[in-house]
Amino acid sequence: MTQKGVLAVVSGFSGAGKGTLMKELLGRHDSYALSISATTRQPREGEVDGREYFFMTKEKFEQMIAENAFIEYAQYVNNYYGTPRKYVEDRLNAGQDVILEIEVQGAMLVKKQYPDAVTIFVTPPSAQELKRRLTGRGTETEEVIRGRMKRAAEEAKLMGFYDYLLINDDLKESTEQLHQLIVQSHKAMSLQGEFISKIEKELNEVNKGE
Ligand code: ADP
Ligand code: 5GP
Repeated sequence: MTQKGVLAVVSGFSGAGKGTLMKELLGRHDSYALSISATTRQPREGEVDGREYFFMTKEKFEQMIAENAFIEYAQYVNNYYGTPRKYVEDRLNAGQDVILEIEVQGAMLVKKQYPDAVTIFVTPPSAQELKRRLTGRGTETEEVIRGRMKRAAEEAKLMGFYDYLLINDDLKESTEQLHQLIVQSHKAMSLQGEFISKIEKELNEVNKGE
């Protein structure tokens, strides 16, 4: 049987730099499969359907919920966001490491279904820097930014549930740290799998001989 890939769940405050990190990571390593989520929010300038997200109506999204086509979904600042199940399971079964970039409620739901998933929370070094990045991105109104800063305060309460905290200060360093976390998880999972097979075989032998 092929060794399954690692499921890496990346969350973080809106504006923490997750999208930027993903772009950098995928630009450097072609081994990763990045799950593309579905959403009911409007595309931002420059976003392409099927690349950043599958943009869809609320009706279509709700139909997919009814068909159990999502691993998880959540409502975030008045829109639905969800992870399509098929792509993730196909890639993991093919042995590829899969990255989900999703918010905290969704991450907790994924961890329940996939206990081996490695969860990583991305944060800027400070709240001031978060506000600066959100404002600097220039894609949201002041009101939306205020909503996202409030949401960040709620999300901070759940940061401790993640396996790792990634402080995204220097982008290149953070990208390398993220890559190493996933590489190490992949190795640990392989070693664990090999050891479990080995000791199961040995236990069978020993028990047969008694
Ligand atoms: P998210 O996907 O988490 O909402 P983005 O990737 O859109 O965040 O990043 C928000 C803004 O912060 C963008 O303008 C991006 O260029 C900037 N940014 C991302 N990472 C860093 C970093 N390490 N240092 C400085 N600015 C960053
Ligand atoms: P944005 O609108 O800035 O692209 O994303 C808003 C939030 O939704 C981010 O925190 C992002 O991680 C999260 N998100 C994106 N896709 C999904 C998804 O499929 N499921 C969940 N639960 N959250 C998602």
